Amino acid sequence: MKGNQTDKTERTVVLVKPDGVVRGLVGEIISRFERRGLKLIALKMVWPTREHADKHYPSQDEWFSSVGSRTVDFFKEHGVAVKEHFGTEDPIEIGKQVKGWLADYLTRSPVVAMVLEGFHAIAVVRKLTGSTYPVEAAPGTIRGDYSVDTPAVANAQKRVVKNIVHASGNAQEAAHEIEHWFNPEEIHDYKRAEEEAMF
Ligand code: UDP
Ligand code: MG
Repeated sequence: MKGNQTDKTERTVVLVKPDGVVRGLVGEIISRFERRGLKLIALKMVWPTREHADKHYPSQDEWFSSVGSRTVDFFKEHGVAVKEHFGTEDPIEIGKQVKGWLADYLTRSPVVAMVLEGFHAIAVVRKLTGSTYPVEAAPGTIRGDYSVDTPAVANAQKRVVKNIVHASGNAQEAAHEIEHWFNPEEIHDYKRAEEEAMF
């Protein structure tokens, strides 16, 4: 039987990243989404190739710039010299370095990929996930409950901030990521038992 779909129904992708998988947090993470009322409609474990990992993230300057600017702001706020770590202060160049480290990181162990469906699912999942840097993420969020990793340490080690999960940032990313990780026949349509009670 099909679910209770409306124009506010969205689909979004979550990856349990390598640190989440090797720390045994997969079940914990999925249960946080399930208990909120989000419907799991696709799920698999994948060991990504470098090419697959690389194509998960956008390659536009806009994305490099948004990632790099956040890094620069964080370093400035904490009085850490950006140039010493990255050899540049250009957000786009910094974003490109981070993207290279992301591909290293996502290929280190299997990841668990899923599609979640629900009302305003993209924003709700981002809220449950928490801020990008665990050290800044609110308690009660996944990143805020399981890590204190920070760019100040990660970047000195030439690696990404280990933040346990990825969650699509907007509708455009969600559409790309669903197609990138799943074939249409791997995505399922069904009704959850409590849908009638909740909505
Ligand atoms: N990242 C990082 N350092 C940074 C910015 C980002 O290591 O200064 C990594 C981090 O793992 C993050 C990923 O790059 O999850 C993608 O960045 P984005 O801005 O899309 O953050 P997210 O959407 O994951 O919160
Ligand atoms: Mg993102």
